[in-house]
Amino acid sequence: MPEKKYRILFVSSEMAPYAKTGGLADVVAGLSRCLGKRGHEVRVVLPFYRAIRDRTDSIETFLPSMCVRMGDAEEWCAVRRVRTEHNVTVYFVDHDHFFNRPGLYHDGWMRDYDDNPRRFAFLSRAALQICMDGGFEPDLIHCNDWQTALIPGYLRSWFWNHPFLGRAASVLTIHNVAYQGKYPVGHYSYLGLGAENFVPERFEDHGGVNFLKGGVGCADAVNTVSPGHAREITAPGQGFGLAPYLSNKNGRFRGILNGVDYDLWEPSADLFLPAPYNVEDRSGKTVCKRALQEAFQLDPSDNVCVVGAIGRFVHQKGYDLICEAIEPILRDMAVQFVILGSGSNGIERFFGTLPARYPGRVGSYIGYNDARSHLIEAGCDFFLMPSRFEPCGLNQLYSLRYGTLPIVRATGGLCDTVEQYDEQTGEGTGFMFDDPTPRALYDTVGWAVSTYYDRPRHVEQLAARAMRQDFSWEKSAVEYEDLYRLALSAKADYDRSHAV
Ligand code: ADP
Repeated sequence: MPEKKYRILFVSSEMAPYAKTGGLADVVAGLSRCLGKRGHEVRVVLPFYRAIRDRTDSIETFLPSMCVRMGDAEEWCAVRRVRTEHNVTVYFVDHDHFFNRPGLYHDGWMRDYDDNPRRFAFLSRAALQICMDGGFEPDLIHCNDWQTALIPGYLRSWFWNHPFLGRAASVLTIHNVAYQGKYPVGHYSYLGLGAENFVPERFEDHGGVNFLKGGVGCADAVNTVSPGHAREITAPGQGFGLAPYLSNKNGRFRGILNGVDYDLWEPSADLFLPAPYNVEDRSGKTVCKRALQEAFQLDPSDNVCVVGAIGRFVHQKGYDLICEAIEPILRDMAVQFVILGSGSNGIERFFGTLPARYPGRVGSYIGYNDARSHLIEAGCDFFLMPSRFEPCGLNQLYSLRYGTLPIVRATGGLCDTVEQYDEQTGEGTGFMFDDPTPRALYDTVGWAVSTYYDRPRHVEQLAARAMRQDFSWEKSAVEYEDLYRLALSAKADYDRSHAV
């Protein structure tokens, strides 16, 4: 029997290539595209951020004017649209005041916009309005992170009796449980969720409002982005306070590993690279290493070990551990370092000034840069991810495909995707450590570097094995289809038990 095809509405605050600050953007792009290819009808709702306005894609006006009711107030916006290949249509909510700003979530000084709860509540309500005004009747609404976690609440209150939205099931994917959208109670009034939703099982949290918690309570099914992290955040006391609520989902909370869009992240066809390579012929990787050394003003050499890191400079990612360990590493080991990222001021300053103190050995770029991120994945020998926790992590997956061995802390999705190197057999795909300490990081980088110089055959073997790993979206998309079935049947059960 042919598989059932669904009409799916994704709602997200990011999607590559339109708006990206992290993995969420890649996941929404990759998963929606894969589901589209598999025959589902997929639409995505995104804010029309300033950077999207400047794009040259053929973005057309879909709804010139749309009224969105927020509590007692009304907001007006337009809806733009772009049709991409594989059954995916992207809608952009064009609200000048909310979204025509320099940043997605914060200003140039990393201060969150004060009205973020209102901006993303508006996005969530607008997504449902697009369905009504634009005539799209979704079977499923797939929400992502706190920014869109009000939607399951809206579906269970305002839209409960709506002729078609009342039939839609909701799925909430948690890409990062540390960001929950917690605000003082004063913000609750304009959300339009009603007193019945301001209860501890839903949006109320210690007297305030918690967007993600309410989404978990109301969604028909919930998941996070790796099985390992799903286990971790349901353990007692974990999940940044959400463990009991996730455990309460009784089988309707799962871990589904993120995939990789190998159309974008594939060294044999990566347009950002000066030379392609693949597992059979890796000579192009040496060309990439030289280009990387030139781009970051490192001493040119094929034979020196190069370690890279890319990411957000936040506590979660463990960049403070790198800051503490990097100078002893540079003192004791023959390595070059390349760092790309932005975030905490202190860490930006540290990595921004380090190259001047270690000329030819350390290169850094403070900011966001796609081209450089691809070059780092290709040109390095090792990729460092000392995360304190990691819901899935994408960079280690890219590193594997680029034959750049990950050095990671053993947590969440990193544990699920990297196999520890076995010095006896030469098996594995990377190097892992347990303690989130500079010492453990130093030791593990030391282990990797000594393997590079003393057991080059093992490094070759690990790289070949890493490049053959397959984390394509197909497998994960099948698991999402299963989650959608679960959500629809949970929704039917809920409707039956709440029928009047
Ligand atoms: P998270 O979503 O927690 O930031 P992930 O590893 O899941 O971490 O995804 C991060 C994504 O963002 C990767 O695609 C990575 O290459 C990209 N990225 C992060 N920082 C930068 C940067 N400064 N420049 C370019 N790409 C970046």
